[in-house]
Amino acid sequence: MDLMTTQRPSPVTPTVDLMADGVQHGFLRLPFSRDDSAWGSVMVPLTVIKNGIGQTALLTGGNHGDEYEGPIALFDLARSLKPEDVNGRVIIIPAMNYPAFTAGTRTSPIDKGNMNRSFPGRPDGTMTERIADYFQRVLLPMADIVLDFHSGGKTLDFLPFCAAHILPDKFQEAKSFEFVEAFGAPFSMKMLEIDAVGMYDTAAEEMGKTFITTEIGGAGTATATSVMIAKRGVSNVLKACGIMAGEIDPQPTQWLDMPDGDCFCFAEEGGLIELLVDLGDTVTKGSVIARIYPVTRTGAAPWEIHAKMGGILTARHVPGLVKPGDCVSVIAVAV
Ligand code: CA
Repeated sequence: MDLMTTQRPSPVTPTVDLMADGVQHGFLRLPFSRDDSAWGSVMVPLTVIKNGIGQTALLTGGNHGDEYEGPIALFDLARSLKPEDVNGRVIIIPAMNYPAFTAGTRTSPIDKGNMNRSFPGRPDGTMTERIADYFQRVLLPMADIVLDFHSGGKTLDFLPFCAAHILPDKFQEAKSFEFVEAFGAPFSMKMLEIDAVGMYDTAAEEMGKTFITTEIGGAGTATATSVMIAKRGVSNVLKACGIMAGEIDPQPTQWLDMPDGDCFCFAEEGGLIELLVDLGDTVTKGSVIARIYPVTRTGAAPWEIHAKMGGILTARHVPGLVKPGDCVSVIAVAV
């Protein structure tokens, strides 16, 4: 990115004052001129709850538009959290990639932008890059702690976990893992990314922020249990950093580690997938964890997927058919 681009002002305008005390429900308004609305806008819902001087928590869901625990927990928090419950500031954006969220898709229907591959963004880029740029240059710098909710979306399902990354700054890493523990999901992950370039996570971490994320369920929906985990988790995090009063609701959690790339299995053939183990099951190295049946004829042997390491099945592909290259499974190790 050249200097001119980085210094150009963001086209995004908040309709509320991010610095004002009280509760404000509004939008991040991004001009979007198009066939059905010449001078139209993308309106990303936003709530700011502030009371006095204190830390700022930036809470986001819908970074990917087909993941629902975060948006449910955050729309609920936005309508229920009162300024008198807050010491500091809570910025809530339940559906960060709002066009993707309203379309029920991972990426934006406007530009096919994947928000979590669009950072640091560009003020003169695609719609997704323009939203990312506003987070990069305006919202992230305001934050002390950042919680970004993810789930598996329509093509993955996960054991419910809260996660942070292994970081070069060990103080920052330890603080992030403390908040993962406070979140209190049934599982807590030391997370390895397939490709960390362009991620919101990386942008926040490189700014020195305490950043935690989740993978809570998936399969394109949410369950009563997964939503309960998300709601309890965000409340615990706000209490752990002193923004909300009250004691956290401590939960037992099983720490998991993704030690290297062997935790991922990818399909090399397309077809009908049969998982031989379920989420949470223990698998041994070399065991067959899935079969992929060719569907063009009967009588053909299925292609087998073998575990490259032993551990716990932590994520699996959904729905029933796979394509070459799909992530079929993730195995993590209990620590
Ligand atoms: Ca996601």
